[in-house]
Amino acid sequence: MKTIIEPFKIKVVEPLELTTPEEREQALRDAHFNVFNLHAHDVLIDLLTDSGTGAMSSLQWAAMMQGDESYAGAESFYRFLHRLEDMTGFTHILPTHQGRASERILFELVGGPGKIVPNNNHFDTTRANIEHSGAEAIDLVIEEGKHAAVRHPFKGNMDVDKLVDLIDRVGPDRIPLCMVTVTNNSGGGQPVSLENLRAVRKVCDGYGIPLFLDACRFAENAYFIKLREAGQGDRSVRDIVRDMFELADGATISAKKDGLVNIGGVLLLRDDALAAQAGALLILTEGFVTYGGVAGRDLEAMAQGFEEVVHEDYLAYRIGSTQYLGERLLEIGYQIVEPPGGHAIYVDAGELCPHIPQELFPGQALVCALYREAGIRSVEIGSLMFGDAAEPPPMELVRLAIPRRVYTQSHIDYVVEAAAHVFEQRHALRGLRLTNDPPYLRHFTAQLEEVTVEAALPAR
Ligand SMILES: *Cc1c(COP(=O)(O)O)cnc(C)c1O
Repeated sequence: MKTIIEPFKIKVVEPLELTTPEEREQALRDAHFNVFNLHAHDVLIDLLTDSGTGAMSSLQWAAMMQGDESYAGAESFYRFLHRLEDMTGFTHILPTHQGRASERILFELVGGPGKIVPNNNHFDTTRANIEHSGAEAIDLVIEEGKHAAVRHPFKGNMDVDKLVDLIDRVGPDRIPLCMVTVTNNSGGGQPVSLENLRAVRKVCDGYGIPLFLDACRFAENAYFIKLREAGQGDRSVRDIVRDMFELADGATISAKKDGLVNIGGVLLLRDDALAAQAGALLILTEGFVTYGGVAGRDLEAMAQGFEEVVHEDYLAYRIGSTQYLGERLLEIGYQIVEPPGGHAIYVDAGELCPHIPQELFPGQALVCALYREAGIRSVEIGSLMFGDAAEPPPMELVRLAIPRRVYTQSHIDYVVEAAAHVFEQRHALRGLRLTNDPPYLRHFTAQLEEVTVEAALPAR
């Protein structure tokens, strides 16, 4: 059967309100052409992020009613603990309120001036927490991972030779740990193979460097391993997940992704002394070690979510639906980051709109066009997001992230149809100019106006 079928039926519906083109035009202007400023109410299909935007199951909602809100030693904590022990093999398991809280605790302990932390690609909060500690964050993804049109089954892999070079150059004492992000979010949601994780592990062992996973999308990564890695096709995702975690000395997890919850996170550690220090920091800023800044009911939702996410019918639908969107956009004529990733499709807007120069934000022009056309909210990952960095970004991307279990295949078809209309109008899309440029993380609050290329760049 070719039809992608949602492996669930719907018990509760959340109505969507259709807007007219005139209403969307007004909303876009009121938002100063920055979709972070839109009221979510004015958005029809919200593809801004897959983080914390998923739908919970009836079993998760039922589990929440059993939330034990005792300050210490709650039953809900032990259910959460046993689920994660069973899934990962770790014994030091700390709940946090989200991924960046785990990162902040970890890098407060192992980071600091002079230290260097390699990764395939650091996610922005990971990089920010490393740099905030005074350490340096370095990206070592394989060469294939840097080119949109190149297909590779494990485009998120780390370049092992570059890792060895880095360690030899700076010395292992300056590298408190090596991280690998699965799947590689900043690199297009691309997976990392077990073979690559084993090779990285071997290098780390040779120098006595611990290996950590940024494991936000561990289940999607494991499913790609099952689909694509030689010898893995007959194994269960559960077993592959276990293999991935057993290769690591620790992991940070945002449960807002593959935890299938709206808020929550985890920090996993093997080292007893480090775990004791992390527990002390957790108490200082998050909460006691058996709740870590979330309610007992949230621990229940996570315990159940981490169980449901490794179900293979769910993963087949999840990965199948994202791939379907990506392949349809390629057929229309868009260049996307190939092959389609797990949680999102990344469109190359620079390639789509060569008439809009980088400084007039071609990505944001596409974001505005998708909203105007059909009420779809996406996000620019290009010069607007990274404009305060030293170098311009290599690509002007627009990300369409798919919330988990929220939209149906007909919603995806609607996105494809809207994207086809926008493709027809691509030559008429207009660039944008900043009217308000905040000093930090400007894409969240910046304000813009539309301009014609000639008016904005008279000197050309
Ligand atoms: C979302 C994410 C984080 C941060 O998690 P939050 O829950 O948003 O704090 C870290 N790393 C990766 C790869 C992520 O996708």
